[in-house]
Amino acid sequence: MELMPEFKLHRPETVSEAVRLNGGSETARYLAGGTDMVVNIRRGIEAPETLIDLNGVKEMTGIREDADGLHIGAAVKLQDLGAHASVQRDYAAVAEAARAVAGPTHQNYGTVGGNLCLDTRCMYYNQSEWWRSANNYCLKYRGDICHVAPGGKRCFAAFSGDVAPAALVHGGEIELVGPRGARRIPLVDLYKNDGMDHLALAPGELLVALHLPRATAGIPSGYVKSRVRGSIDFPLAGAAVALTMKDGKLETLSIALTAVNPYPQLVKGCDAYLGKAVDGELLEEIRENVRKQAKPMKTTTIAPWYRRRVVGALAQRIVARLAAE
Ligand SMILES: Cc1cc2nc3c(=O)[nH]c(=O)nc-3n(C[C@H](O)[C@H](O)[C@H](O)COP(=O)(O)OP(=O)(O)OC[C@H]3O[C@@H](n4cnc5c(N)ncnc54)[C@H](O)[C@@H]3O)c2cc1C
Repeated sequence: MELMPEFKLHRPETVSEAVRLNGGSETARYLAGGTDMVVNIRRGIEAPETLIDLNGVKEMTGIREDADGLHIGAAVKLQDLGAHASVQRDYAAVAEAARAVAGPTHQNYGTVGGNLCLDTRCMYYNQSEWWRSANNYCLKYRGDICHVAPGGKRCFAAFSGDVAPAALVHGGEIELVGPRGARRIPLVDLYKNDGMDHLALAPGELLVALHLPRATAGIPSGYVKSRVRGSIDFPLAGAAVALTMKDGKLETLSIALTAVNPYPQLVKGCDAYLGKAVDGELLEEIRENVRKQAKPMKTTTIAPWYRRRVVGALAQRIVARLAAE
């Protein structure tokens, strides 16, 4: 780990002040819980000249319910998200995902916004400065070669946040405010399939809130992940599912994956299963479809084939559990 470099720390109290202080500068970064950002600074991956601490921005705190659904401030701590009664009751996958992030200390500091805007990860990137320099760096930072796929010019670092897939299966939307104004977009549109540049944020844009729509409240949902150390680790593969049943058949089905691509992805082709009973044959079809759409690369010490197999099995398992409830 490197020593902390010098930077200016701002503590704005409003969203507009935070956005103004950032100003879209290439050397400014937002700091929420810091559980990923500070590690990246200490590893020399990030060297911001200006850090904008979001913890004093009141507009970004609190969880509020209205006719539209649930409005979750981006600075809400994961611990509070996972423990919130309405989240647990109406958006179970989101509560389960929040409680599955790292360990209790990370959940105590880590925020919803920081989790949704988490940088992509790769074993050739999340290393100390001396390790990376000894390996001539990599495509994502300072190098010109991808050690995962040396022939190409694409970065395959994986998005490994837990909350995004859970919010995706509930049709989450996000509120963004930037130097050019405010907008509200589906969460799915925040992400791009590019490990080097995976967020569709304009320069200086701040994620202010996550909305979970009333329409999906109460739909049975769940999130499960596979990880090396059960007490603290990032997902090697994670799956979220939300579904409804009618007369013993699938009425709606949504599946989302994390850690097996540079972006959290909604699984395609789920409509093909609607109107069918959830039996062994259908569960096999779902598992195979999920497995095919997951494209993990050698970004962790655990083999891609294993993560691909596991993610199919996780999705299959949640579908079976929810269908039987
Ligand atoms: C040992 C260890 C284990 C971990 N395990 C997991 C895990 O299992 N699952 C998991 O999901 N994560 C894991 N993490 C990563 C991290 O702890 C969490 O993702 C956490 O939720 C990040 O939130 P934060 O508030 O600390 O973000 P920060 O570190 O403050 O920020 C993360 C990124 O998001 C940006 N950002 C923060 N807030 C906003 C905002 N409102 N708008 C725009 N950009 C913003 C920051 O600029 C930065 O780029 C782990 C980290 C460590 C060190």
